[in-house]
Amino acid sequence: MIVNSRGIALILAVLIAVITTSCVSLTPNAQGSTLLVTALVSCLASYLVVFITLEFFFFKEVNRITHMLDELEQGEYETVSAQQRFFNPLKSINKDISTYANIKQREIDELKRLEAFRREFIADISHELKTPIFAAQGFVHTLLDGAVKDKSVRMKFLKKAAKSLDGLDRLVQDLLTISQMEKGEIKMNFEDFDLKMLIDEVFEQMEGKSEKRATTLRYAPNLPETVYVHADYQRIYQVMTNLVSNAIKYTPDNSEVEVDIEVQKEAAVIFVKDNGPGIPPEHLRRVFERFYRVEKSRSKDKGGTGLGLAIVKHIIEAHGYSVSVTSAMNKGSVFSFKLPLGQAPVFHDMPLKAIPQNEPGSTAPDAEQPNAS
Ligand code: ADP
Repeated sequence: MIVNSRGIALILAVLIAVITTSCVSLTPNAQGSTLLVTALVSCLASYLVVFITLEFFFFKEVNRITHMLDELEQGEYETVSAQQRFFNPLKSINKDISTYANIKQREIDELKRLEAFRREFIADISHELKTPIFAAQGFVHTLLDGAVKDKSVRMKFLKKAAKSLDGLDRLVQDLLTISQMEKGEIKMNFEDFDLKMLIDEVFEQMEGKSEKRATTLRYAPNLPETVYVHADYQRIYQVMTNLVSNAIKYTPDNSEVEVDIEVQKEAAVIFVKDNGPGIPPEHLRRVFERFYRVEKSRSKDKGGTGLGLAIVKHIIEAHGYSVSVTSAMNKGSVFSFKLPLGQAPVFHDMPLKAIPQNEPGSTAPDAEQPNAS
């Protein structure tokens, strides 16, 4: 038997008409024509009411749900959507199905994105590994093919091969760091320390490099003596080394690199500014991506792995903040990030009175004893 709104409406209308007519027939003045009219009117009215109710509020929704389930079965998640109707008794089922479809669609999108990302990443890594391996291989083979007998060429080629292998080593190290960070294997070791001491160390470490390029490393004027932050010392050292080294690397000789710190209520904002060529606006958003380089050849010539800023981004995000960059062409770039403020260490001068004297087991220093006599 096919159950549809017409059939149900007809059965219910007949039932209602029978009941109504029977009730009316019990009244003393009930006549045949009155009963007929009552039966017809109640039957027609009931049919219309039940049919409209079932058709528009129930069967239509059931059909829609069946249609949505068909779409789900065929994996067409993006076409499934809940209809926002004013009155819909099956609204919650409708909404549940559409929410389920949305979640599934998002999962599929994410999987597709990850798959594309994985493919791109493998292609990038292969490309990045290929360059230094190819170079080192070329030098070694040239030496093996006879160049080794020529003393001057031998040293030159060995040095070049070693340089390529050093680059390969840096790349592998950076790749390991980034993959460990993404897997959450690197635990941050938070402590309170003076950021200015850390920057002093970075400046010291970069001295040779900056001198070679006649670049000045300096602090912005009027910085506080100390700025205590709560962060991972080693990781922030890595961040500062990377930003300062990039600033030296990508600016011409005789440039200036300035580190500024703005102390806010709960955080310190660190700025690394340079007066180099700047980064074109269309590249700004992408420089934190792995292997993204503004000028491919220039970065590789300078020994860059293309992973430095991606690592910086990960480290700062692990501290609960984000790193950003602003740049003006031919004026320079400013990289900035925040770190939570920390506590300066408190050194207590313990008053002599507070030290218990003559107590059993007391290790108090020899203090003058009051005269017992
Ligand atoms: P790399 O190892 O190539 O230096 P990074 O991730 O550190 O990789 O930097 C990504 C790219 O961003 C660099 O290749 C360079 O093109 C650009 N870049 C980074 N810092 C600066 C800067 N201070 N000035 C101009 N360009 C920069």
